[in-house]
Amino acid sequence: MERISQPEVKNYIGGQFKRNGHSSMNVESPLTGEIISTVPLSTAEDLDAAVAAAKSAYPAWSGLTLKERVQVLYKYRTLLEKHADELTELVHLENGKTLGESRAEVEKSIELCEFACSMPQIVTNEVQEVSRGVECRIEKKPVGIVASITPFNFPNMVPHWTIPNAIALGNCMILKPSELVPLSAMRIAELLKEAGLPDGVLNVVNGGKEIVEAICDHPEINAVSFVGSTKVAKIVYARASSNLKRCVALGGAKNHLLVLPDAHLEMTSSDVVASMSGCAGQRCMAAAVMVGVDKVDHIVARMVEEAKKIVPGENLGSVISKEAKERIEGYITQAEKDGATILVDGRNTTVPGKEGGYYVGPTIIDNVTPEMSVATEEIFGPVISIIRAKDIDEAIKIENSSNYGNAAAVFTQSGGLARKVIEAASAGMIGVNIGVPVPREPFAFGGWNESKFGTCDITGKSSIEFWTQNKKTTTKWNPEDKTNWMS
Ligand code: NAD
Repeated sequence: MERISQPEVKNYIGGQFKRNGHSSMNVESPLTGEIISTVPLSTAEDLDAAVAAAKSAYPAWSGLTLKERVQVLYKYRTLLEKHADELTELVHLENGKTLGESRAEVEKSIELCEFACSMPQIVTNEVQEVSRGVECRIEKKPVGIVASITPFNFPNMVPHWTIPNAIALGNCMILKPSELVPLSAMRIAELLKEAGLPDGVLNVVNGGKEIVEAICDHPEINAVSFVGSTKVAKIVYARASSNLKRCVALGGAKNHLLVLPDAHLEMTSSDVVASMSGCAGQRCMAAAVMVGVDKVDHIVARMVEEAKKIVPGENLGSVISKEAKERIEGYITQAEKDGATILVDGRNTTVPGKEGGYYVGPTIIDNVTPEMSVATEEIFGPVISIIRAKDIDEAIKIENSSNYGNAAAVFTQSGGLARKVIEAASAGMIGVNIGVPVPREPFAFGGWNESKFGTCDITGKSSIEFWTQNKKTTTKWNPEDKTNWMS
């Protein structure tokens, strides 16, 4: 059954919502499989129009003081709170995560906005009298016209990783949301306009590969941020960098949780299961591999009990699409063929009344070996693979062998062993007795290895370096002083 419940998605260029002469694709709700809207597949000409709008807004916007610019974000933060219920519903509808998870996403967006509001307190520039009467000053200036390309799994939060910080710091932005979840981005643009953001400071161009490639090639876009799979992150990083743009590209993940026998039974089992099943496993911070060190059968048994409490359609949302469901189930079937033990099997899950939706139940796979595809590849579903290790050194070796490096965690009561894992894990974000170690603002978010390409992190203080360039000024005002410095 097809049903349209949302307005058609439009591009937002120079403060106007526009949709002329585009080909389009349907937007489905993965909760039910129903068509809820359509999204334009824009062309390079649409991007040109968005860049032209951003360029015309740039002189006035970048000419404001930082304190003036964040006034818009204070108002916008209030609007995010006022519309939190509606924004939550929208994330739930287009992405399929539960209402609780959708609410948490919107709350995180508010926190990200608060961080951007604090920029005038953080970005204070530097000045020093370097020799008598001579002053050196460093000012943080915007980069110019910038772009943000976002994935499907956090339709509200990931755009807030970049928009508030980039515009607070004086840039004008082109946002290219995932074509699978374009509705939240349209509301973000509307609310920013209502908050008083001048036309052209944020522009939204919808579409897929063609627009991403056009962004990487556009001579007037100076910086590109990307969040998505490693395959596309590599393409974007290589193409944007070869066109001499600065780029930070966050990729996929395969996060390892090292569980030691002394780990707290209840906290560990519920945390590991929550980490692998939250947002239906479609988080780049999700637990993907549990490395059980020595005797952890009691913890695995409790995890099985915890997983069985999860009810798809109630406290577990859908995955994003039919293809995603088939891919995830294919991995489970492959693991079974490879000789692993399926302790909890989420295949063939349907939700009564939502038979057209795309659900995969929580899945725990034991006796996985390091070379199996469920041990090495990103599954991006509510699936955890358990690899057994004889000791902590072997467990660290398994973690280190991953191509990815977003997050890693250790569950133990021992400070010494926790410290050893913190030091040895090859990942950008580490958890100790925490299954989803997302740094909260002002701490920066970003992985290592093939989970991130580029030098800066995407949020927090590190993002200030990405969205600004330093202007260095040396000044001398004392002509009576005959010393001519460095002459
Ligand atoms: P994706 O890579 O398929 O898509 C991301 C963006 O790239 C979208 O806007 C899409 O339109 C565009 N795109 C897709 N294919 C393209 C191509 N061939 N050329 C150019 N552009 C293309 O990712 P997704 O499926 O939307 O999101 C899930 C992935 O994102 C997972 O791998 C997940 O781990 C990752 N992710 C990573 C982080 C992180 O912080 N590291 C955060 C969220 C999601």
